[in-house]
Amino acid sequence: MAKSPSPPIHLIVMLLVTYFLCTVGKSNALTCPLPPELATKLHVDPVAIDSASTDYGNIVHSEPAAVLYPSSIEDIQRLVKSSYNCPIPFGISVRGNGHSVNGQDMARDGVVVDMKSLRENKTGIKIRVSRNHLFADVGGEQLWIDVLHTTAAQGLSPVSWTDFLYLSVGGTLSNAGISGQTFLHGPQISNVYELDVITGKGELVTCSKRNNSDLFDSVLGGLGQFGIITRARIALRSAPTKVRWSRAFYSNFSDFIRDQERIVRGGHRDVANYLEGSLVLDNGTPTEWITSFFHPTQLPQIMSLVKTYGIIYCLELTKYYFIEDIESEIDQDLQEVFKQFAHVPGFIDAKFVSHQEFLTRVPNAENESQTHPWQNLFIPKSRISDFNVGVLRDIVLKRNITTGPVLFYPLNRHKWDAQLSAVIPDEDIFYTTSFLHTGGIDNWQVYEDQNKAIIKFCEEAGIKIVKYLADYTTIEEWIKHFGSKWTTFRERKAKYDPKNILSPGQKIFNGV
Ligand SMILES: Cc1cc2nc3c(=O)[nH]c(=O)nc-3n(C[C@H](O)[C@H](O)[C@H](O)COP(=O)(O)OP(=O)(O)OC[C@H]3O[C@@H](n4cnc5c(N)ncnc54)[C@H](O)[C@@H]3O)c2cc1C
Repeated sequence: MAKSPSPPIHLIVMLLVTYFLCTVGKSNALTCPLPPELATKLHVDPVAIDSASTDYGNIVHSEPAAVLYPSSIEDIQRLVKSSYNCPIPFGISVRGNGHSVNGQDMARDGVVVDMKSLRENKTGIKIRVSRNHLFADVGGEQLWIDVLHTTAAQGLSPVSWTDFLYLSVGGTLSNAGISGQTFLHGPQISNVYELDVITGKGELVTCSKRNNSDLFDSVLGGLGQFGIITRARIALRSAPTKVRWSRAFYSNFSDFIRDQERIVRGGHRDVANYLEGSLVLDNGTPTEWITSFFHPTQLPQIMSLVKTYGIIYCLELTKYYFIEDIESEIDQDLQEVFKQFAHVPGFIDAKFVSHQEFLTRVPNAENESQTHPWQNLFIPKSRISDFNVGVLRDIVLKRNITTGPVLFYPLNRHKWDAQLSAVIPDEDIFYTTSFLHTGGIDNWQVYEDQNKAIIKFCEEAGIKIVKYLADYTTIEEWIKHFGSKWTTFRERKAKYDPKNILSPGQKIFNGV
């Protein structure tokens, strides 16, 4: 009797994976056949599912059916192709480093791609020179802290940063990536030469301003909707050696913003490489926020100013310098600038730190018993005084519940590329403010209520704020958010991710 041929091994593996995911997974979304190469990399165990069901915010929790730990870009491509070719496609979200605060990196009943596993192969950052351009080719999974260390070892540095560096390159480039350098160099998305992207059809495409520019523009600031960034070519410059880091206090809001605006308008271009500002509040401002800079003996005087004025404002300025620069001359320049400023006399402090020390000033700390009901807004400059009265004094000061830093500083619109997907106010100068609340597991709602009250006030007062890292949940809200950019955003989605597979956690196209 003739022996019947045994089925090929890959078919058996494929059937097993499919059966496993269909029966053990909590959803029936993964009824699609998955390639055998992914068999050992797709996890459905509770540890994997739990880790992908939460994020830094610790407020939104949403379970995927499985988590992919890719060991190559091809693994991610295989996964996207499987979904694309499936009669009922499943959602795929990328978890860069899980530092979203509203579930943007989750995929209910779909698959979360945990980029951490790609970081393990340690080959993701390469420094190159081409036609006098210095740049780093960086995997989308890489953390900015590692970009800093690798580039600094060669005396080089990207020009635009975030305040906190334990964020992935793909994660910040999907938003904008802003900090005190943005007024001068634009956000991180303005400092990218080229990308490799896996589209929602599973195609790996290289794009830049010259090549597939429409995809390039879509992806930068595109909230993960058009493709998965697997490589970004990031502009580099010589790294400064040291930083003169100074802070001054203001008791008057108008003085504070006038001096900040002088700097972003270029009035003191040669003394400012970085500008931020923040609010100091009686209840909320963490003591270490002040004492890390000012001497602890100054704390009582600073707090007495806060008691008198309710809110005081801190302007933060840095000047970068190189080995050949003379410290005393730098100091003279800074003193000249501060002489023209209207800060509270006697409360100005400055120190020299290394460039790396400055960039790593925000430590990496996570606490599972905390929540982070954050809100980040862009505010048009023309309405900043109304925002001060209606929000900072009538809501924030009166409620007196704010915990954590409140950032407040201006940015230049002309440093943002209007072709990219990111949305900003329609004015030459706009402010960014960040309410970085820390709550407990049970009390985050009071902060969310305050966040909502701020939005309500702005709507009623006709202040056209734009949410940064927006957390909208309905299509109507997103259409309003994107405004004149919506039609292009929707058309690009239809072109690059026609089956609405990518980044369902942003809740933009899921219900459409
Ligand atoms: C402590 C802290 C400090 C912060 N400081 C700043 C700051 O100074 N400036 C600033 O601008 N922002 C800041 N953020 C916000 C931060 O930039 C965003 O939350 C960012 O999305 C987090 O990066 P992540 O790598 O953790 O991304 P994730 O939360 O993992 O992902 C965010 C979104 O991007 C998508 N995504 C992730 N990787 C990719 C990829 N490779 N390709 C395509 N899409 C991808 C995800 O699917 C998701 O939709 C901060 C956040 C925290 C928690």
